[in-house]
Amino acid sequence: MPVPFLSAPDTAISFATALGALPSGVLMGFAIVFGLVIGSFLNVVVHRLPIMLERAWRADVAEATGTPGPLFENDGLPTRYNLWLPRSACPHCGHALRAWENIPVFSWIALRGRCSDCHARVSMRYPLIELASAACAAGALIVFGPSGKALAAFALCAALIAASAIDLEHQMLYDEITQPLLWAGLIVNFAGTFVGLREAVIGAVAGYLALWCVYWIFKLLRGIEGMGHGDFKLLAALGAWLGWSALPQIVVIAAVAGALVGIAATLSGRMRFEEPLPFGPYLAAGALVTLFAGTPLYGLFAWGN
Ligand SMILES: [Zn+2]
Repeated sequence: MPVPFLSAPDTAISFATALGALPSGVLMGFAIVFGLVIGSFLNVVVHRLPIMLERAWRADVAEATGTPGPLFENDGLPTRYNLWLPRSACPHCGHALRAWENIPVFSWIALRGRCSDCHARVSMRYPLIELASAACAAGALIVFGPSGKALAAFALCAALIAASAIDLEHQMLYDEITQPLLWAGLIVNFAGTFVGLREAVIGAVAGYLALWCVYWIFKLLRGIEGMGHGDFKLLAALGAWLGWSALPQIVVIAAVAGALVGIAATLSGRMRFEEPLPFGPYLAAGALVTLFAGTPLYGLFAWGN
């Protein structure tokens, strides 16, 4: 008698069917908790990745110049420092977080946004990232149903949340996020998950070139660097995920949102006019609108059909 077994696609289908059979409230609860937990991990990425990369650069420079000696004496952190080690601790007093202090959003509210030991303020960024992640997980479930597509959509959201938060704080979009995101977009669309592979490949190239051109026009005409190279790579990744036809909408939403925030920040005196604005969060916002709502902007201008 042949051994009955499920091939990989069958397993995926029956898993999705099993998920689809769960009551939608339970499923939504799962999605929100999952989003909160991933959001908590994104907080670790946002805090630690820049430190890890700075250390790696220092090590490279030390190796290239032959400078001996300790590399990390300035940051006061252990030598072994990555996304998993050491355990989360208060950056002010080093108090290691207890299990309940790691519960997303809840612990921040219970502790009124302060460290339980030294009472130093804990940034609003922590609960905000966790809530944004949970909202994206819920949104992906609502828009795409319990499916691999929803998981892929949420992965894109998670990467965009981390990249945006780091860009806001450090004015830097790291290759370590944008490059894998580009490859992931091409792989996800290999079977046409969000757009066809042709549209994805053209999207990656066009996304990069569009902002590369804007960069050089600004540089040649006015002698200023209007944006960072990370912005080209991020838009290339978004083109790979959402296709070339999504790019005009993403750029328009990013430009309008960026201009409004820039004007508001300048008028309220929080920013000088010449200061560069991190563009990553606005590109991410344009991408999220496109991911969840399609391209309503084109309907406005009667494009596309
Ligand atoms: Zn503390």
